[in-house]
Amino acid sequence: MPEPRNRRIVLAARPRGRPQLTDFRLEEAPLPSPGEGEVLLRVALLSLDPYMRGRMDDVRSYARPVGLGEVMEGGTVAVVEASRHPAVVPGDVVLSRSGWQTHALSRGEGLVKLDPKVAPPSTALGVLGMPGLVAYAGLLEVGRPRPGETVVVSAASGAVGSAVGQIARILGARAVGIAGGPEKCAYLKDELGFDAALDHRAQGLAERLAQACPRGVDVYFENVGGAVWDAVFPLLNDHARVPVCGLIAQYNATAPFPGPDRLPLVMRQVLTRSLVIRGFIEREFAPLRPAFQRDMASWIASGKVRYREDVVEGLERAPEAFLGLLEGKNFGKLLVRVSPL
Ligand code: NAP
Repeated sequence: MPEPRNRRIVLAARPRGRPQLTDFRLEEAPLPSPGEGEVLLRVALLSLDPYMRGRMDDVRSYARPVGLGEVMEGGTVAVVEASRHPAVVPGDVVLSRSGWQTHALSRGEGLVKLDPKVAPPSTALGVLGMPGLVAYAGLLEVGRPRPGETVVVSAASGAVGSAVGQIARILGARAVGIAGGPEKCAYLKDELGFDAALDHRAQGLAERLAQACPRGVDVYFENVGGAVWDAVFPLLNDHARVPVCGLIAQYNATAPFPGPDRLPLVMRQVLTRSLVIRGFIEREFAPLRPAFQRDMASWIASGKVRYREDVVEGLERAPEAFLGLLEGKNFGKLLVRVSPL
């Protein structure tokens, strides 16, 4: 039997604009063995998330970029293979940040034990994890929808957006989702109970959105930016709230968006319509995690929140799947199965 090896995907080059497969490199290395206080993890599931695009650029942001030649960063569900750490034993399933690789050493920091009997471990990377938390906290803390108000969310069939729309409905608001393609729109309406769903890839989004929101928009949960923002912005009501969670349409941009500079118009409307536009990064909502996990677990159990996972098989397919995420090829929370659980 050959010795097991660690396979890992490193950042090979910094992309200019849209990333390419050649920006990643698959490497192999001997399997590390844990020293005193360390744990050897075998990665079972890797989460692919839009923020990883930002980590590929060497620019100032809220987190350090991945260095050239370093393992791509990412959240994982992993199995403890060997442990010289008092908190975990072999066989434990943990949430970790092991990145795009088959195995990793950990000193135990940030490991969260998961109980597969309580919830499928994959949900710790999606609806019960970071994307679910930003949906919950961004909507409750920033969006603050009231019953009867209209909430619009973009990237609505994805990990964050699908939770936002369903929570908005639970709070008594109307949920209008914007997603790419008829299949995703049908899923939003027929399976998740959105009041309306609009395809941003079809013509006339602004007109169709105005029809779907006859009383205007009270909350716009922004996941996308770009042309979708242009369609939603004129519909914002006085005192509308805009939680700015993500701007995925802009992550690969190398030049300003086409057309006139919108900033003076936006600022004028912020003033005259008393708009609240507020960005956030997930970690600021950490104090809300216990309430989020309690509420979300009960909504899932009662069927009020449903979720969808898009699972790609094999670590070597992670780069291709990640490029697809930036173009809307995923349908639901994107995960890579690296090894069996
Ligand atoms: P996701 O929605 O599961 O996947 C990304 C989706 O974005 C794609 O499936 C695609 O859906 C849509 N998209 C890509 N390019 C687009 C474009 N040019 N125009 C319109 N839509 C486009 O991803 P997610 O994890 O739930 O993340 C959604 C957003 O939340 C991202 O912007 C992400 O950066 C942000 N986020 C922020 C935080 C935070 O802490 N602030 C945390 C997590 C996520 P369609 O096929 O529908 O176009």
